Amino acid sequence: MSLKENDLFDGVRDKVKIAIARIKEFEPKDGFGYYVAFSGGKDSIVVKDLVKRAGVKFDIHFNLTTVDPPELIYYVRKYHPEVQIIKPELNMWQLIVKKGMLPTRVVRYCCNVLKEGSGIGRVVVTGVRWEESAKRKLRRMFEACKNGGNKYYLHPIIDWTDKEVWEYIKANNLPYCKLYDEGFKRIGCIGCPMARTEGRKKEFVRWPKFEQAWQRAFAKFWANWHNYPLEKQRWVSCEGKYPFQPIIGEIRSRGINKESGNIEEGFWTRRRWFDLKGYQTWQELWHWWLQDEEETEDCTMGMF
Ligand code: SF4
Repeated sequence: MSLKENDLFDGVRDKVKIAIARIKEFEPKDGFGYYVAFSGGKDSIVVKDLVKRAGVKFDIHFNLTTVDPPELIYYVRKYHPEVQIIKPELNMWQLIVKKGMLPTRVVRYCCNVLKEGSGIGRVVVTGVRWEESAKRKLRRMFEACKNGGNKYYLHPIIDWTDKEVWEYIKANNLPYCKLYDEGFKRIGCIGCPMARTEGRKKEFVRWPKFEQAWQRAFAKFWANWHNYPLEKQRWVSCEGKYPFQPIIGEIRSRGINKESGNIEEGFWTRRRWFDLKGYQTWQELWHWWLQDEEETEDCTMGMF
């Protein structure tokens, strides 16, 4: 596949022109223009370049998550000074303690709080692509945000492949973050639960101070677990196949185990009840968290 390919009618399909046409077609007429969500990754640098070429009105933002690679921040500041860097109210470690639970592959509340709250009432342009995951294959080129907020998404390069993204970057001589040259396939939060175990381990070798910071947050979370305010805990019913019936969005729960009759504490992951009693120390919990390879779901829990 290439950015220019022959179509069924002996014409040439130019994906760059198509992407620019999409950006022009959906340009908001509200006077504000687009809200471009910029991550500093390869897809977003392509999108930023296309938006500029389309000549539309836009403003562009980078959400700091506080677990971003320092090299990425350096790259964004150096090559994209017009990007507005948004600092969160709480950093990742404070958020874990406040939520009373760890971010997991299924319940990635940190994305919801640190990244996805921006762009309310706007049309947000992103570098989301179908090739990135099975779940993203279901996304539409233009779509409403499932959390509402009168927010829409435009993904102008949704049908591009990885190879085509790199083809565009090289052809247009766009500077990119040097971490790609070190072999990183994705550049984002260090220790992100969405990454595979091997990826996270590689990141922790590369940035050992971030591993220590995650571990400190685990230890703090563990120490707080049993003191988590009762009014913030949610009880779940005991119907269904599992001892605990999950309610979508319910994460930090107590319930009666139908088999044992005991009240237990834990949280729900996609396929099973995660019973904290099975873990004696935060280090055991850390081990489980690092190994968590459950199938990725492109979900955002709306309750946070
Ligand atoms: S990318 Fe990963 S670590 Fe970063 S905010 Fe989203 S889920 Fe959390």
